[in-house]
Order: sequence, then C-alpha cells, then structure tokens
Amino acid sequence: MKETVIPKIRQETRRVKIVFELKKDLQEDEVICEHCHGTGLEIADNVYGISGDTAHVGVRFPYKNQSLTFCKYCFNGVMRKCPSCGSLRGKQDRECSCGYAYNIRQEARDYDRKERWEKAEKIPSWKAWEDFKCLYIDDIDEYVFNEDELDDLIEEYELENPRIYGTVELGIQIDAADVIENACGGLHEDAIEQCNAKSLQAVLDEWGKKQSGATTYVPYYKVGVLMAASEAKA
Ligand SMILES: [Zn+2]
Ligand SMILES: [Zn+2]
Repeated sequence: MKETVIPKIRQETRRVKIVFELKKDLQEDEVICEHCHGTGLEIADNVYGISGDTAHVGVRFPYKNQSLTFCKYCFNGVMRKCPSCGSLRGKQDRECSCGYAYNIRQEARDYDRKERWEKAEKIPSWKAWEDFKCLYIDDIDEYVFNEDELDDLIEEYELENPRIYGTVELGIQIDAADVIENACGGLHEDAIEQCNAKSLQAVLDEWGKKQSGATTYVPYYKVGVLMAASEAKA
C-alpha cells in the first residue's frame, strides 16, 4: 500500500514594493501592456504537488511557489494594436484575427496575378490547343487536357474571364555525364574519358520519353489563353 502523507506546509508571503521607472519609445501602433503595466513581468504560480499527499484529494498541484516570469500578454511590456480594427494583439497571435494581415497579403497576391496576366502574350484558345497539350486555369489552380474539361470547369466554377495559361511539360531527364562519373568512381583515372557520353545520353533521353507517368506540367505564364467570350469582349 502506498504511504499516505499529510504535508506540513508553511505559507509565507512577502509584499515587495519596487519603484522604478521604465522608458519606452513606442511606435504608432504600440501601447503599454495593461496586464503588466509595461514591466514585461507577471506573477507565475509555479504550482506543485507532493507525492502521497492526502491533505488534498483530487487536486494534483495544490501548492504554489510564486515568482516573477515574463508577461504572457506582451513582449517587453508592449502590445501592438491592429491598424485595422484597433484590437490588441496577444503574444501568441502572430496576426490579428480580424484578417487584416491576411487581406493585405491577399491583395498583394491578387495584384501580382493581375500583373502576370496583363504581361502575358494572349493567344486564342484554338491556337492554345495546337501549341500546348495541357492548359492551366490560374483562378482555380487546375490543369486541363482538352477543351471539354476546360469548358466543364469554367461552367462549374462560373468563371467569367478566366485566366488561363499554357504549360511547360517536364519529363525525366538524366544527365549522361553524371551517370558516367558515378559509374567510374572506383575505376582508373582516365576511365571517364573513355566512355561515350553522347550515345548514353541518347539512350537515356529515349528511356525518359517513355516514362510518361512521370510527366509533370507547370504553368507557362508568358502565354495567356483567351476564351471565345473574352476574345469578343477584348
Ligand atoms: Zn505585459
Ligand atoms: Zn484587427
């Protein structure tokens, strides 16, 4: 059976009066933390329990060893105010929950996307299908491989003036020189020079072309595709 303990706890308190002055150079959106009055400090309880303690039942850490710790609401006694809604940002909140920072980022992203579209050379969709195997719909981050797929998605997402781009096809590429260097690692000094890299490269290229499952398409932002409707509008 476990030994039962009734601890003898001596509770002492100290009232500490410290007077000091703190100077803070605050930026426009900064205010002194109201929780710690700018000290950057708060009282931590530092709770603990005593093994076998029978004086407290059901309370795991009934005792305290209070001391000072860093304020949990601020950094260095200063809090930041959200420039949009004015609410104070806690230490844990990297940005305000009103979405201000997110919206700013979103606006910047939208601007970049718009600029990218404006800069792209525009071709009609019939030409795009001649030039590209796959097209990219920027608005919804989707790749399409034929006209029907494209039309379906435009309809499904009700895209009015979709920003569609050509794509670049990426396949497996293995460099013959790398392979030879690797293979000649343990051979005599001039072994590399004795190998025909050109003929190996031809074999590797041929092999790479056949690995169609690995083919990857990435957007080619230099060419934008105009759909019939937006062509009429343009
Ligand atoms: Zn504070
Ligand atoms: Zn806010």
